[in-house]
Amino acid sequence: MDFKIAKERFEELLIKLRALEYASATIYWDSATGAPKKGAGERAKTLGVLSGEVHNVMTCDDMVQCLKLLDENKDKLDKITYATLNKIKREYDQMAKIPKDEFAQYSELRSLAGQVWEDAKEKSDFTLFEPYLEKIFKYQRKFVEYRGYDGNPYNVLLDDYEPGMNVDILDDFFNSLREKIVPLVKRIKESGKKIRTDFTNRSFNVEKQKEFSKYLLDILGFDFEAGMFKESVHPFTLNLNPYDVRLTSHFTKNILLSGIYGTIHECGHALYEQDIDKDLVGSSVATGVSMGIHESQSRAYENVIGRNINFCGFIYPKLKELFTDKLQDVTLKEFYEGVNEVKPSLIRIEADELTYSLHIMVRYEIEKKLINKEIEVKDLPEIWNKKMNEYLGVSPDNDADGVLQDVHWSDGLIGYFPSYALGNAYASQFVNAMKKDINFNNALKEGNFKAIKDWLTEKIHKYGSTKMPNDILKDVTGEGLNPKCFIEYLKDKYEKIYNLK
Ligand SMILES: [Zn+2]
Repeated sequence: MDFKIAKERFEELLIKLRALEYASATIYWDSATGAPKKGAGERAKTLGVLSGEVHNVMTCDDMVQCLKLLDENKDKLDKITYATLNKIKREYDQMAKIPKDEFAQYSELRSLAGQVWEDAKEKSDFTLFEPYLEKIFKYQRKFVEYRGYDGNPYNVLLDDYEPGMNVDILDDFFNSLREKIVPLVKRIKESGKKIRTDFTNRSFNVEKQKEFSKYLLDILGFDFEAGMFKESVHPFTLNLNPYDVRLTSHFTKNILLSGIYGTIHECGHALYEQDIDKDLVGSSVATGVSMGIHESQSRAYENVIGRNINFCGFIYPKLKELFTDKLQDVTLKEFYEGVNEVKPSLIRIEADELTYSLHIMVRYEIEKKLINKEIEVKDLPEIWNKKMNEYLGVSPDNDADGVLQDVHWSDGLIGYFPSYALGNAYASQFVNAMKKDINFNNALKEGNFKAIKDWLTEKIHKYGSTKMPNDILKDVTGEGLNPKCFIEYLKDKYEKIYNLK
């Protein structure tokens, strides 16, 4: 095979890969948004066949040769092919450096572990899940050895979700949070200020909640002709390509805020995907570059924008109009404070903006130590509870509300959690940079969300995966990950809300 043929063959293989992924994603969407329960078995089989095919294409001889030849001729590649090569090379390394039989055993373990985890969580008994988690970490440690690493072995896993990320940067980041945010949470707890939240649990008609979510998507600029909005148990966004981006939310009668902020969060993910440069459509880089950058967009919308006083001021009249009888005794200030209440809790997915990253810190420290064999799986419940108490001042009295609460580890997702906290920090850095170019608060006050979306598109969205996370961050903000910016944002906001100054 020569270079020219390799380039063509590479493209053919990628077209096949994308088709397989497209099919799997559509089936996934279907099953999460209303496909019949009884069809689950046949759907799972179909997904199994498709993922087997993905593995075959990714590791076939032609792919190996193409990757090698293109890599040797990097300087002859156009920008899109070059970025694609780097992306596929990473995915190939994750798969192909691990012996095939071990990879298959590990996949089987993961699917078993998922079922055991569900059962263990229901019974709130970590000892049921413990042997499986033990094996998952054992495999991951072994895989890290096969794949090779620089510095800390945990770096390999971090890099899977956030290319370029490593323990040195994250240690520094979490040390700053521990030093500044933990005391701030304590001060808030001791302030004695009571924030009114009774109204959020009144009975809100679900159809009207949906209508309000559609209104939110509309004003924020979601393109309904290149996307779809449905309901599912857990909100998520699924991107097939920039012309077909789907998102869901979940509505509960007496939990008003979770539907609203779930929708805004997913809208942030969806806008990122919809606003990718259309020149990239039909390539493998027409998608968001990393978990961290993706979460920065969802969290910028959910928290920095969605929980800003001016944004609340803009949407509140519409909300009041829909729920006149439920909200007539609630002022805008009370609504704003209500959506920003700080309440250290046991459950990560229910955490407020301020304490959320502390939940991630607990998981980061545990993963890092487990991969480095500094602690043992059997001691996790105790370690978990101790850390929760130290950072959040609350500690679970059962495993279901503690170490068993997240699905991630049962699925082998190790190194994934930090991207949530990175997303929070990046979001504050991006909005800080945005404020130098546009009048952010005025835009929110006037409902000029197009100005914000256009800025994000120009600086971040349009590049898809053609720019690495740290390059985006540096080009937009002039620096890398900066915990100070995030901490300043949080301090400034919450000291005001809780009258701490
Ligand atoms: Zn998200």
